[in-house]
Amino acid sequence: KDVDLAKPEVVHYIVKRFGLHMSKKLGQNFLIRHSVVADIADAARLEPGSPVLEIGPGIGTLTQALAETGAAVTAVELDTRLLPVLDKTLEHYPNVRIIHGDIMKIDIEETMGHQPFTVCANLPYYITTPIIMKLLEQKLPIERIVVMVQKEVAERMTARPGSKIYGALSVSVQYYTEPEILFEIPPRAFMPAPEVTSAVVAMDVRKQPPVAVLEEKRFFQVVKAAFSQRRKTFSNTLKSAGIRKEDIQQILADSGIDGSRRGETFSLDEFAAISDAWSRLIQ
Ligand code: SAM
Repeated sequence: KDVDLAKPEVVHYIVKRFGLHMSKKLGQNFLIRHSVVADIADAARLEPGSPVLEIGPGIGTLTQALAETGAAVTAVELDTRLLPVLDKTLEHYPNVRIIHGDIMKIDIEETMGHQPFTVCANLPYYITTPIIMKLLEQKLPIERIVVMVQKEVAERMTARPGSKIYGALSVSVQYYTEPEILFEIPPRAFMPAPEVTSAVVAMDVRKQPPVAVLEEKRFFQVVKAAFSQRRKTFSNTLKSAGIRKEDIQQILADSGIDGSRRGETFSLDEFAAISDAWSRLIQ
């Protein structure tokens, strides 16, 4: 059996042996707790042979736990300096493929061979939201996403209408998936320890959106407008978006929405009703 990488002394040894300097800019905080790594890998619910995409393997800690399930692991790492490390730490796992690249730039569907797959990652915090949005908006054949993010981001992803932290990220994540916060992770589980508490979120990707809309593009345009000026009433938001007064009245009447409400109180159903009223007006 291979050395368990998820131990403080092993991570220390690897960092020293390869003369690594962890890059804050690239969000490099490596996990050093076996139980945490095991829990994240478990949450991905992998089976032997199932394709899984890991974003940012670092020195290979979570990658090892994913590989131990027998899954077919593809791990995309941006930092060139980590490639020789990963070659060594994962040398006994034929079911791991390391790809050097930027997750924001690569063609994910092509990389994963146009097959359904799972995503499991301890995400670099400086681009958490762009990565999640890319995974969701490209309508990739993803079944489940298990990611570690900052606790605050996890809370925004699962926030309900009317709460202070409900926003465009909440709507997008809940439109495409059923998200659930699984557990929190304290800073001491990482090396170096980050300043914030982290949380693991599991998202089951929906086969169908929870609301049917005439035009998806317009739905997200409405969502974006509603949250761009949180303090304005929804009527005023539409006015700033350049919509004529009589058209605003028509949209509100048709969707049955009270224009004096703030956009941040709208449920997915209400956003859909507004979006459809707007689509009908334009047709
Ligand atoms: N998986 C490891 C662990 O849990 O210990 C490391 C996670 S660390 C929080 C984030 C990793 O993402 C780092 O290894 C970093 O180099 C990598 N990374 C940062 N930006 C990236 C990008 N745009 N594409 C791919 N990997 C990236």
